[in-house]
Amino acid sequence: MSGGKPGPARTEAKTIHARIVGRNVRVLRHDRGLRLADLAQKVTEGGYPMILKTVQQIETGTSSGAHRAVTVDELVALAKALEVSPAELLKPTLCPVCHGEPVPGFTCNTCGASR
Ligand SMILES: [Zn+2]
Repeated sequence: MSGGKPGPARTEAKTIHARIVGRNVRVLRHDRGLRLADLAQKVTEGGYPMILKTVQQIETGTSSGAHRAVTVDELVALAKALEVSPAELLKPTLCPVCHGEPVPGFTCNTCGASR
């Protein structure tokens, strides 16, 4: 027996960073005039196959409202496609409209943030 713990295969990890990355990807994508499909294609052309739905889930979360976890490879691939450093995507907010703090009760159209 290895005694290995049956660790959770897919934890709903704290998603704060996933949320930040998602918002930043969305802001930068808009800034560059790319559609979801365009970004998925750029990421794929950069050597990391990604479908539109994945980009969408990273940006706005799944239908359950949970933000999809972003892998390091995805982070790097998205940063490359958006021509920024991976660290840029981890900054608290790049949203020029709400700066991460939309008016309570409203959702920012630019980054998707809401309070
Ligand atoms: Zn915003």
